[in-house]
Amino acid sequence: YFPEHDRTIWSNTETPVDALDELSKTSYPLCMRTLHEALKSNYHLKNSGRVQYGLFLKGIGVKMDEALQMWRTEFTKKIDADKFDKEYAYTIKFIYGKVGSQKNYTPMGCSKIISNIAGTGEYHGCPYRLMDSGTLKKKLTSYGLLATDVSEIVSLAEEHHYQLACAKCFEVTHKIPPEHPVMHPNAYYSDSRSIID
Ligand code: SF4
Repeated sequence: YFPEHDRTIWSNTETPVDALDELSKTSYPLCMRTLHEALKSNYHLKNSGRVQYGLFLKGIGVKMDEALQMWRTEFTKKIDADKFDKEYAYTIKFIYGKVGSQKNYTPMGCSKIISNIAGTGEYHGCPYRLMDSGTLKKKLTSYGLLATDVSEIVSLAEEHHYQLACAKCFEVTHKIPPEHPVMHPNAYYSDSRSIID
């Protein structure tokens, strides 16, 4: 259970959007790296992906105006700015509590993300649950992980130990296990930044 004010979820420093490409490689868990890569290569994310990634970005300290600018920059590589402002900007403002029910929505934790199933053309959810073993193996290998580490992570995922697979990925990429058990992508990010920063 992660209360709204949990320091492991909410970053106390601002994160500029031009740092996200690098941060996605060094400090994102696989669920968020997958969404970031999909946004950057498809110039689009369907609604569930926008909500999962948008809330994560809010938690890591991306301000609403910068978030809007980033989503607009990517989406308008495929659609015009007017369509973005009419159809997509609302979700981002909603996430920040500026429109609609105006709640301070908390970034999603692992159990919620793991329970979400992505359909065709969607990239939300937990890749350790949703990717088949071959795709997961190829993905982790492309990130430069050693074959023995990849095998261990894929085996944990096959045994449905998704959060242990994620923690193992943290451990082999940071040379040290995460400070907290992996229960929340924003806590994974905080643990990573506290090592790297
Ligand atoms: Fe994301 Fe949690 Fe899955 Fe890791 S275990 S990829 S943080 S949902």
